[in-house]
Amino acid sequence: MDYEAFFRAQLDTLKDDGRYRIFAELERKAGAFPRARHHTEDGVNEVTVWCSNDYLGMGQHPKVLAAMHESLDSCGAGAGGTRNISGTTHAHVQLEAELADLHGKEAALLFTSGYVSNWAALSTLASRLPNCVVLSDALNHASMIEGIRHSRAECIRFAHNDPADLDRKLAAIDPSRPRLVAFESVYSMDGDIAPIAEILDVCEKHGAMSYIDEVHAVGLYGARGGGIAEREGLMDRITVIEGTLGKAFGVMGGYIAGTAAMCDFVRSFASGFIFTTALPPALAAGATASIRHLKNSNAERTAHQTRVAEVRKRLDQIGIPTVDNPSHIIPIMVGDPHKCKRISDWLLEHHGIYVQPINYPTVPMGTERLRVTPSPVHTPGDIDRLVSALSEIWSMCELARRAMAA
Ligand SMILES: *Cc1c(COP(=O)(O)O)cnc(C)c1O
Repeated sequence: MDYEAFFRAQLDTLKDDGRYRIFAELERKAGAFPRARHHTEDGVNEVTVWCSNDYLGMGQHPKVLAAMHESLDSCGAGAGGTRNISGTTHAHVQLEAELADLHGKEAALLFTSGYVSNWAALSTLASRLPNCVVLSDALNHASMIEGIRHSRAECIRFAHNDPADLDRKLAAIDPSRPRLVAFESVYSMDGDIAPIAEILDVCEKHGAMSYIDEVHAVGLYGARGGGIAEREGLMDRITVIEGTLGKAFGVMGGYIAGTAAMCDFVRSFASGFIFTTALPPALAAGATASIRHLKNSNAERTAHQTRVAEVRKRLDQIGIPTVDNPSHIIPIMVGDPHKCKRISDWLLEHHGIYVQPINYPTVPMGTERLRVTPSPVHTPGDIDRLVSALSEIWSMCELARRAMAA
């Protein structure tokens, strides 16, 4: 076989479909977020990033940076091993205690990323619970889908955010079998929020375990940043809460929180936990500082919500079609992969505005979009520039506008 020809042909298909991903090479400037240097073949330009998941700018927070510097200087670079083999540091243990407290749970368990935490925890729970059935929301993230698939447990998809459908599907399963219901709180592409209480009612009615991914909510919602489940007073009813340290907390890593026995079980059986080097202590120290700060400060959360409301209002006023939702994510619908990419390229080249195009398979074909994530570090001037640039390109490309708000 001509391997090279195969690789190139597959890539050509992606390019023809407008799905080939080109990375923007950025150099973020601590202290100046959302500003970054953009490295291109023609040199370096300054850009404003409008699509970061460092939602609150915690990646440049002085307390986070100080904790990381201090840890780096006192403990060195890496953890030196897996958690089992000399890689459990004081920083990891402190971070797990901080996370358990954040979610009001007995324990928490760290992983190297949110992806790995979903993959490892779901694959371990679903494969080890004898004859388990997983009920998975139809729009769950790839990391959950892959974890469930790897478990080889039976998996039944329920309609997105639909407790009635979940109820029907659970009712049809032999009640003696263990059942695990996996869903998210904030869905990151449409920005919609799950009816968590109703889903938990259904889980409890059928004696099913609940597993929630709060990756796009931790740090951002709840009085202490515990997520949507904290805001709604539901954390104690959820079996497993999963989150990331890489988005609103601004660092890196993933975790689950739950009972001591459940966390100990995953710790003891999950290949994706056992056989990989622990996070560098400096990352753990930075994440701990970030979580502690956001437990005690609402200023970032309030500024975040204000900024999101402002950007939404301004886009509505000029009829740019956004998806209405109750979260901080503003999807701007384009509906065509080539146009989506062209708009994104044009914003970057002509206005120094960076918003990544979101195409299939991340979202369904025909729903290609730009996903804008305002943050407390965006200024009113940044918002003006974003809105006028979008208005210009919408006119240039003769894209449809919504009926304009009065
Ligand atoms: C980003 C994401 C993850 C993975 O988290 P990382 O820490 O980036 O690996 C998991 N679930 C959802 C819903 C996500 O969007």
